[in-house]
Order: sequence, then structure tokens, then C-alpha cells
Amino acid sequence: MKNLLFLLESGSLLPYNSSKLLHSKVLFMVLIITILIGCTPSAPTPETGPTQTAVIAGETATEVPAAIAAQVKSTIVPFRFVVPTPGAEPVTGWRPPLYPVPWAVSAYDHFYFARPIGADNVNWPLAEYRYGGVFFANVVHTGVDIDANEGTEILAAGPGTVISADWGLYTEVPGNTSDPYGQAVVIHHDFGYKGQALYTVYAHMSEIIAVVGQHVETGDVLGLVGDTGATTGPHLHFEVRLGDKTFYRTYNPELWMAPPQGWGVLVGRITDDKGDLLRQYPVDVRPMPSGVPLRKVLTYAMGAANGDPYYQENLVLSDLPEGLYKINFDYKEKKQQFWVNIYPGQITYFTFTDKDGFQIALPPVPTLDFLPRTATPTRTPKPK
Ligand SMILES: [Zn+2]
Repeated sequence: MKNLLFLLESGSLLPYNSSKLLHSKVLFMVLIITILIGCTPSAPTPETGPTQTAVIAGETATEVPAAIAAQVKSTIVPFRFVVPTPGAEPVTGWRPPLYPVPWAVSAYDHFYFARPIGADNVNWPLAEYRYGGVFFANVVHTGVDIDANEGTEILAAGPGTVISADWGLYTEVPGNTSDPYGQAVVIHHDFGYKGQALYTVYAHMSEIIAVVGQHVETGDVLGLVGDTGATTGPHLHFEVRLGDKTFYRTYNPELWMAPPQGWGVLVGRITDDKGDLLRQYPVDVRPMPSGVPLRKVLTYAMGAANGDPYYQENLVLSDLPEGLYKINFDYKEKKQQFWVNIYPGQITYFTFTDKDGFQIALPPVPTLDFLPRTATPTRTPKPK
């Protein structure tokens, strides 16, 4: 039982996947999947609205019912690999230089990180394996994957202290060579966000160069791209964790990595007639007139994917050149469409609800729970 709790709190696996990859260590992953299926409901699920931001700061305990523990011991479910819908995002060979970090145009933006792969390589997330996707069984992807050749240098996304550099990140068993993260490094950053600690995770390294306790600056080499852990092909799995370094506190790295200059990010919150987030909903994003190919994106799946404390989104599409885009998807057998502008270095935020359809709006201001824990001057009431 103790071990199980350990597993649950240490994070799930990043189901690695890529069209050219198949998983190894299937048994181990099946165990993890089983755990996740059993325990997902007790995980923090900030998906019911902005008031849920308290979850980020909260001390949500993860209880494991005895029945689930027993199930984990005795059940081996058939392994099922679901091939993801092929993404339509093309790989172009060039993007402008990134905005300097930290980059934040609005008060709650937080493009605090540089990209963990240098600009002389592909350094943007694989379209098919975005944050919040489900690529097999019920395991939600808790990071982004950046395609890179074995041996490519992996760079610190921001300054901080290396707090883990070994096999065994997931299982918390140092040196465990069957850990799904493979050889991985975790940085505890020098800065946080709204009073909460920030961490980044770099997984599947062929070689770790950083050492625990080392202070690194943005761009310092942490290790080399590899295919250790639950993958059979080289790539970097990159995560951002906020408030706590566990798996349940991951957030979409596409909201944390600075965009290329002149490019922006589309963020959306799409809900149904009950106000619930639409899950794994296919959405097309088409540039107008055209110059950039059609992008297809799925909204987050149910499970370990968290909406941003501020945006509470279930869709993010980064690296969009500025310009006009048409968003469309089918809802209740009707084609829904809407046009949005993407601005350089900014987030364009939209919502879709059953009642109001599409709206462009600023997200609601975070609740008090999410504000920094510092004394804020308040207006002194005027004596009457
Ligand atoms: Zn991954």
C-alpha cells in the first residue's frame, strides 16, 4: 500500500509515442495504466471552472481505496495501443527567434521558459503528441514531445537548481532502469509563478550531464536526447509542473515556452450544454486567407491534464504566425465557426459555450486563492 501511494504521488507516465515508436516495457506500463484508471477520479481535476484554481494551491490528498490497491495487484488489463489521429501540422524548417524570456504581455501570461532544444534543431512540440492527448489506453500525456536525434543537446529552459538527475523519476527508485521516464532531469527554478514553485522535467535522455545540486542557467546543457524509458525512439519529453513536483501538477508547456517573434498562441475553453469541458474534441484552425497550412487539434482528454490556473483551457495551439484564423468544429450536428486574430507574442483566448457560442474574452481574474501570498495594499475606507 505504501508503495502504491508512492507511485501515485510520483506521477504517471508519459506515454511515449510517436508514429515511428512503439512501446517497450509493456507490463510495467500496464500496471501504471491500471493504477491511473483506478485513481484518476481522486486526482485534482481543475476542469469545472475558474473557481477550481484553488486546487493548485491546495493540499489535495490522494487517497487510495483498498479495492483499487487490490485491483492493481491482481489485474493485468490487455494492452491496447491506440494510434493517435494524425496531426496536420506541417513541419516547416524555420521559425523566427523566440521572444526573450520571461515574456508576458498580459498580467497573467507566463512565457517564462526558453525551449529545451536549440534553435538549430526542431524545437517545437510534435503536433500529434500534444499535452492532454491520449495515445494509448487511458493514459494522458502530461508533457510535450520534441522530436530530436539521439545525442542532441537538451538545454535548461530556465535558471534553477537540478533536484533530480537519474533513472527512476516516476518510480522514485534511483537507478531503476525500468522507469518509464528513463534517464531524466528535474529543475527547480529560481522563480515561481504567483507564489508557487516551478519545475521542469526532461525525460528519455541517452546521457545525463547535469548533477544534482548544480545550479544551471537558461541554455546550459543538461544531457543528451535518447530513447531511455518507455519509448523506442529518441525524443525529448518536456514537462512543466507548478506548485508541486508531482505528475498531477503538470501544465501545458505550450503556455510556458516563449513563442517565436511575431507569432502567437491560441487558447480555448470549449464546453457543452452542461458546462462540462468537451473532451478530445477535434477542432480545425485554418489560417485566412492561407499561407499557413490547416492545423488540427484535439481538446484535452479526461484525466491528468490540467487547465492553466488562469485560462482553465482545454485547447492550446502554439506557434501560429500572426494573422486571421478561422476556428471550426462540429457541435450538435452543426458546423460552428468563428474568426480570431492571432497577435505577435500574445495569447488569443476564446470560449465556446452551448448558450453563447464563441466568445473572445479575457479569462476571469483568478480567485483569491491563486493570488500571491503577499500583503496587498487595500484602499482605506474614507471616513464619512
Ligand atoms: Zn512525451
